Amino acid sequence: MTETGGIKEHIVCPFCGCLCDDIALTVAGNKITENKNGCSISQAKFLNHHDDRLEMEQSLEDLVKKAAEILVNSKRLLVYGLSSTENDAHREAYKIAEEVGGVVDNTSSVCHGPTVLGSQESGEAIAALAEVRHRADLVLYWGSNPQFAHPRHMSRYTRADGLYIKDGKKDRKIWVFDVRKTISAGVADRFIKINPGSDLEVISALRALARGKILDVAEVGGVSVSELSELVEIMKATKYGVLFFGLGLTQSKGRHRNIDAAIRLIQDLNHYTKWSMMPMRGHYNVAGANKTSTWQTGYPYAVDYARGYPRYQPGEYTAVDMLVRGEPDAVLNIAADPAAHFPKEAVRHLSKIPVINIDPKRNMTSLLAKVNIQSAIAGIECDGAATRMDGLPLYLKKVVNPQQGVLPDRDVLRMIYDEVRRLKK
Ligand code: SF4
Repeated sequence: MTETGGIKEHIVCPFCGCLCDDIALTVAGNKITENKNGCSISQAKFLNHHDDRLEMEQSLEDLVKKAAEILVNSKRLLVYGLSSTENDAHREAYKIAEEVGGVVDNTSSVCHGPTVLGSQESGEAIAALAEVRHRADLVLYWGSNPQFAHPRHMSRYTRADGLYIKDGKKDRKIWVFDVRKTISAGVADRFIKINPGSDLEVISALRALARGKILDVAEVGGVSVSELSELVEIMKATKYGVLFFGLGLTQSKGRHRNIDAAIRLIQDLNHYTKWSMMPMRGHYNVAGANKTSTWQTGYPYAVDYARGYPRYQPGEYTAVDMLVRGEPDAVLNIAADPAAHFPKEAVRHLSKIPVINIDPKRNMTSLLAKVNIQSAIAGIECDGAATRMDGLPLYLKKVVNPQQGVLPDRDVLRMIYDEVRRLKK
């Protein structure tokens, strides 16, 4: 198994939900020496892929046996993560959860879970990113700072020229709604500062004004009603508008109600002109994790197999809620770092139970894990498929070989599944 050197083009960047597919890498002697087109995050991801790798204390075979024993002895297993690995690995994780009657949840439960709930309530009004680039003449970012978290989102899609947007800088307007002036707000055409926790009120006011209602207050959420009225008139008159939203909307007061209201605002605006909306997905394959979970289990996250068939209940079978209640007696964590991101009570329980951690790199979770298994980085050291924030599936290419004995997540999980089946016989 050898990968030839030279220039490798049309590589997909496996970091954020933009999944930029125009990366050109120079490879020499199984080493990536240059990344053309990638943002600074992408540079670090590709050029430093060999740094901080997870150490394995035993052979892979022994670690797989140890992991399988923990899983077989578990009465309430939580399988978690999946958003920074490829779709085939997801399938193997769901198989393990089903085999041992555990819960399987992905990281959307702590980011865009409310987006999923809002869509289940009011539908989806998504568009392709290409459509946005070629047609949208008004773009809103709400509770999202793309210049920081998705560094090429603006330059590739909302500031770029398009088929019907001849000059992306002049013919398209960008507005940012946020509680503070972010770097994205600094480069936008208009910044609308709203009070923290008032998203639902502001969206509801925009909806009321779009429907021709008169508001008998001077301001809503820190924005004057006269400004809100002006914004609504522009939104109704635009040719094609798009609302991108981030965790500032999904994780602030109101959560899925904010998304529900935003979807209904988009529906209202579609009485006048064309509008769509899209979540700014963070981890590169968190959108894929929702999709593969739905394909395999019928539900996008928070799925429990304890009764032998999948049941869905966010709040009940979501990772943080389970850990805070002290419910799981073992955790299989794949391509995520719950110890770094979960609340203190959840991490406290995580530190008391056996954790099997599968990841290419050292992280906070690896410090408390009982079993650490290093895996190959999807999109760099192995191939796979991932889903972009607009739902488009993209093929991740293998660029260099992983270290000897380091396998993709899907192969590690398959080995664990086989060992679990063997132990259960
Ligand atoms: S914007 Fe995201 S996907 Fe694109 S190059 Fe940067 S990190 Fe990678």
